[in-house]
Amino acid sequence: MSDQQTLLLVLLALYLGECLLWVRRGGVVFRSWLGLRWTLSMHSGVLANDRGDLHWNWPLPPFGTVHLARAPALALTPTGLLGGTSEVLPGQGRPGVTGRFVPWETCQSVAADHKRLLVNGEVLWQGDSPHEPLRLAARLRTLVALSPTARRPQLQAELQAAFDRSALAAARANFLTQVRPVRRWALTLFGFLFGLGPAAIWGGGWLPTVWYLLPGFGLLIILTTRAFLRAHRALYPAAGDERFRLGILVALAPISAVRATDALARSVLERFHPLAVAFALLPRAAAVDFARRVWRDLKFPIQPEFPSTEPAVVAAARWFREQELAAVETLLTAEQIDLATLTEPARPTEPENTLHCERCETQFTAAATRCAECGGRPLVPLAA
Ligand SMILES: [Zn+2]
Repeated sequence: MSDQQTLLLVLLALYLGECLLWVRRGGVVFRSWLGLRWTLSMHSGVLANDRGDLHWNWPLPPFGTVHLARAPALALTPTGLLGGTSEVLPGQGRPGVTGRFVPWETCQSVAADHKRLLVNGEVLWQGDSPHEPLRLAARLRTLVALSPTARRPQLQAELQAAFDRSALAAARANFLTQVRPVRRWALTLFGFLFGLGPAAIWGGGWLPTVWYLLPGFGLLIILTTRAFLRAHRALYPAAGDERFRLGILVALAPISAVRATDALARSVLERFHPLAVAFALLPRAAAVDFARRVWRDLKFPIQPEFPSTEPAVVAAARWFREQELAAVETLLTAEQIDLATLTEPARPTEPENTLHCERCETQFTAAATRCAECGGRPLVPLAA
């Protein structure tokens, strides 16, 4: 194998590695190649462990887009803040939660430490990127400063905001505007690295071509980095440290520069509930199917409802789940989905099935008593 072929293979391997992304449990991946037809992926099924999954993005131009959406990380209640919620998205196990409960009156300090959210100096939650901890820290500082009577409506308004369809559409439109120049330069760089560059070296050899390839390459890197920094500042104004780190990476690692749009797309919808993103991006039938499973998880939660024996903690998780269920039902009504269709009793798929689990809708014969998949939820009779 010639030097040129080896170099191209190494570049390709590095490039495919750059197309992978690790998502912590609780995150839902929305993926599209051309931005026209979207799919949802909660569980990649490969290279997964109990903390998360390795997902992939389209390697071919125009590179596709991956947006991450996340169910609320914290249960923010009138009494305090809880590290985790009762919600377990369909197809996923319970995300790792700290289960720490901090009453508002004992909340002394809040800080974002890269991907971790610290309250009173201890970790309350850990995410995939610095963006969500930064946003949560800002929210918590506002909430701590409020009086108890002012805090409750604020909590409900913030939960509703995670389902706000017009805010979601605006966030997505802003992303499309900001990402356009970055994608243009990244695509040009891709063509240079995997097309023009290798072809010129094969045809003319290293030395005769390097004098014009190198300046062209340098110019493309500068233009991509500049466009990336501008877009990142517009989309994530508070994430200065992250912008500096990624800017260095894009400027020094050409493969990262080619995939610069991934870092911009990933967290731009992270503050919205996955169900709201599903209705905005997915085909209607897929969104309705997802809605049914999200609604059932909130209505008939996995057992135990929250991994704690502390009554105050369980009560906080329950209060938040009921608020979230109400917000989901408001969204479903706005989407003209009849809630009665979600609750109608299921019919047996096999004549011997007489029981089912209300959460996951798996059917069982009369010999079964509980659904192990849903933490041992008791089964209920199917419709006759
Ligand atoms: Zn079940």
